[in-house]
Amino acid sequence: MNVFEKAKILGIAGKYDSCGPNMCEVKVNNGLGGIYHAKAEHKTCRIFKTLMDNNCSFDCKYCGNANSCAKKKASYEPKELATLFDYLNKKLDVHGLFLSSAVSGSPDDVTEKMIESIRLIREKYNFNRYVHFKVLPGTSYDLIKRASELSTRMSINIEAPNKEVLSELSSCKDYKTDILKRQAWISRLNLRSGQTTQMIVNNLSTDKDILRMSNWEYTKLRLKRVYYSSFRPVKGTPLEEEKPVSLTRQNHLYNVDFLMRRYNYNVKEFNQIMDNGMLPDEDPKISLAKKTFDSALDINEASYDELIRVPGIGPKTAKRILKIKIKKYEDLHKLGGHVKRAKPFIKVNGWRQKMLGEY
Ligand code: SF4
Repeated sequence: MNVFEKAKILGIAGKYDSCGPNMCEVKVNNGLGGIYHAKAEHKTCRIFKTLMDNNCSFDCKYCGNANSCAKKKASYEPKELATLFDYLNKKLDVHGLFLSSAVSGSPDDVTEKMIESIRLIREKYNFNRYVHFKVLPGTSYDLIKRASELSTRMSINIEAPNKEVLSELSSCKDYKTDILKRQAWISRLNLRSGQTTQMIVNNLSTDKDILRMSNWEYTKLRLKRVYYSSFRPVKGTPLEEEKPVSLTRQNHLYNVDFLMRRYNYNVKEFNQIMDNGMLPDEDPKISLAKKTFDSALDINEASYDELIRVPGIGPKTAKRILKIKIKKYEDLHKLGGHVKRAKPFIKVNGWRQKMLGEY
């Protein structure tokens, strides 16, 4: 099998990992898999996202690379991957690498190969831009440390909000030892872009459990991002007959996650809009505002904490509102507010234009 055939198999095998910025796949005319446009911090760049090996000895029930799943198997040698990446960098404008792997044999053996690939990419081919290194569950501390010295960002997939759910999905991963302990190690290392993780959104976990765990990851381990991946059944896996989880549920988790990280909402606030631990089928900020504001808020009297809880008003707009008097809705628009979203919840000049029931 030549290296381009491997790139196709291992690029496609790596696409389910969403532990990085939002990505959309780039079609390239030589049929290579795994090249994506990634958007991060308002910049777009091409990332090569691949597995080192897709022949896993673990048994995660949702994964197309697990040991019981029939598929084409492939793996790179470090020199092969480094040379391929140098080619993609120079010929196809690929400026980042996202390297993950199935656990073929022991996590340390595969990690050694991943480290050697990146060492060659950095030292032989002088590549100094983005490298995301996926840590495999159970990898030893020394290897994680060595990988961190070559990487921009690292992640290990937590997959589930607690050990009970993970044990339903995999008999090979120990939640506390193989994952949380490794995350704690990574959080103490010096990484330019920090650490991220991914959680699968499935019917075994409630939104409440998922968000509680995300909050723990942000506050205790200082993760940069938790990515949510709604469950999609993969053909040939034990869960192939299960129903997929809606993207709407995934998106509402992202909405709450954003409000926690950027607006400093407390995760417990969302308990009041949940039903049996599940968020409603509505924008969570609007749902929460409907519970919070039993009467319209006078926009010129409101505090910062009240203002950022109004739909259509974010932290920047809230800070601007505190400095001037709003006389009409147009003033709010000029300060960056989304008037249509905010109107049912605010009074301007003692007057509310739209009632909550009309929302
Ligand atoms: S460890 Fe689990 S999720 Fe990762 S490749 Fe192996 S089977 Fe798939």
